[in-house]
Amino acid sequence: MITFVYNGSIQKLHDAIAEAHKILANDDFYKLIKERGNFDLADCTATQVADRLRNCNLNSQVKTYKHPFGPSLGKEFPITDPTSVYINVSPIKFKNRTIPSVVNTLIHEAVHAADSDCADFDFGHGEDNHSKGKGLTAPYWIGCWAEMILENPGKVITVAQVDAQSKAYCG
Ligand SMILES: [Zn+2]
Repeated sequence: MITFVYNGSIQKLHDAIAEAHKILANDDFYKLIKERGNFDLADCTATQVADRLRNCNLNSQVKTYKHPFGPSLGKEFPITDPTSVYINVSPIKFKNRTIPSVVNTLIHEAVHAADSDCADFDFGHGEDNHSKGKGLTAPYWIGCWAEMILENPGKVITVAQVDAQSKAYCG
């Protein structure tokens, strides 16, 4: 599985990373991804996405940036730094975020890192960093699913419920 490496001092980020690691080690996490069947803009099945994510053994550096304007909560740089994840820690973007919300971004970026580590398939969400209409792409859907696991402890969540929440989240 992907292991996040973060040497910074932001405690909420450490806490979110600990939760993300638990989710990435959880069989049920991959089971529902496989049940989805397919993702928008992916040229492979959801089972192949789940297997690539699970078997990806990257150490992914978590880096921070501050961008108070614009929509981004996290970023990826598929050409210059494909296996790192970037989290926007500008107070206006980060201060009021919950741990499950930050985990959503971390897992979203983990899907990108696994995608960059895979030469056989593509399962991103296209070039730009705008979420509109992309709720059923692998990075957004899987990130949303991770957030829902943390928000609904002990509850059974269905593919249809993740579809609805991810589409609402992306607009
Ligand atoms: Zn993305």
